[in-house]
Amino acid sequence: MSRVLVGGAGVAGVAAARALLARGATVTVVAAAPSPGADELAASGVRVVIADPAPLELLDEADELVVSPGFAPHHPLVTAAADRGLEVYSEPELAWRLRGPGAPAWLGITGTNGKTTTTTMLAAILTAAGRSTAALGNIGEPLVYTSDPDGRYEVLAVELSSAQLHWSRDLAPQAGALLNLADDHLDWHGSFEAYARAKEAVWRAATPERGGVAVGNLDDVRVAKALARVTGRTIGFTLGDPAAGQLGVRDGWLYDEAFGAGRLIETRAIRPPGAHNVSNALAAAALALSYGVDSAAVRDGLAGYRPEPHRNAYVDTVSGVDYVDDSKATNPHAAYASLTAYPRIVWVAGGQLKGVDVSDLVASVADRLTGAVLLGVDRAEVAQALARHAPRVPVVDVASVDDGAMAEAVRAATELARPGDTVLLAPAAASLDMYASYARRGDAFAAAVRDLVTQTGEPI
Ligand code: ADP
Repeated sequence: MSRVLVGGAGVAGVAAARALLARGATVTVVAAAPSPGADELAASGVRVVIADPAPLELLDEADELVVSPGFAPHHPLVTAAADRGLEVYSEPELAWRLRGPGAPAWLGITGTNGKTTTTTMLAAILTAAGRSTAALGNIGEPLVYTSDPDGRYEVLAVELSSAQLHWSRDLAPQAGALLNLADDHLDWHGSFEAYARAKEAVWRAATPERGGVAVGNLDDVRVAKALARVTGRTIGFTLGDPAAGQLGVRDGWLYDEAFGAGRLIETRAIRPPGAHNVSNALAAAALALSYGVDSAAVRDGLAGYRPEPHRNAYVDTVSGVDYVDDSKATNPHAAYASLTAYPRIVWVAGGQLKGVDVSDLVASVADRLTGAVLLGVDRAEVAQALARHAPRVPVVDVASVDDGAMAEAVRAATELARPGDTVLLAPAAASLDMYASYARRGDAFAAAVRDLVTQTGEPI
């Protein structure tokens, strides 16, 4: 067995190291900072090097490099490994290679936005069909723990990020869905083309020889184009009327014209709200049907689906105004999806824009905005876009970035809102300037809304 250097000692790195050790590999782990996982590995006798930058000499004693998503293609350790002819791959790729006989089947999901929602919808459908399953990959327990089949799972709903797919070679889910492609993580991949190419790897099994299925969003021009190039079986899905071989929407129902199931479930039963979630549900349904699940399970799974927090999550209604937490809208493409799900909105936005432009987003949703409240480091850029493309929309700038900022934002939004409006936290930006995560940001929003309820005396 070979000598492997594992880059990163997060959950995936630790899992990869353990799996490799169990198979007799010589493993060294290199991490930028100490972590509980690194300590645990060191305590069990693994060679752990804590150093930033990672010493390139470590590559002299390695045949392969397993990287966590933090390692971009231009990372010095990665380029040095490539120069030396070492193979570089991700934890999901390792999990795929280590799958033993009887290991669970994989159904893969990728895309710029909607991955977690679609993956958990798929797991809900598979569960409703009585299949033992879990939503894993970019979420949940590391995939490598399922490589040794222990009877827990028959099939996995696997969320795959562009970084995980970039560092893959063999990984080939028997059906894979590509939800959408928009600008994100371009600094990591170097170009949009490289980012798109990485994501298309979810369709690796869709060739005539391998017999896999490629599921793709026909409403996304770039995905539709890519899908047309696939040589194996393809299933397109659309919010329009489905042609033969597609899934779509007909007379207010999710409708299957690919597997002969016909009506699946009414669109208005899909949660969270918004056309984008109907799209996600169609992708999950296509994957499940391709796996042989029947239409009743698709209906039951989607009807009983409990949305993940911070994704168009309804918080409360106060004085006729709905408050919705979509803190997970961390890029403009995601924020566009949620802003088009409600007719009249006071928009709570801002954070770290990661160099992405919000002008198009603001221009395309301007007519829905009754107000905007801006917070975070890059709020000036959002303010400029609003001044240019939505000049009549009143804007409140929350200048503080301390603990009280969200409460101030919710108060300001409440003053701008009229009965029937939705106060929507859909920042179009990352949260790390003010919060430890998008989840903390959403929690702060919900807490501020609850305080409002207490103050106005309305029941929670
Ligand atoms: P991911 O795992 O890809 O980040 P999530 O399911 O967690 O995706 O959703 C993240 C955010 O993206 C949601 O809060 C919503 O704003 C938006 N979103 C969800 N599905 C879609 C979609 N199909 N198209 C565009 N935006 C979406």
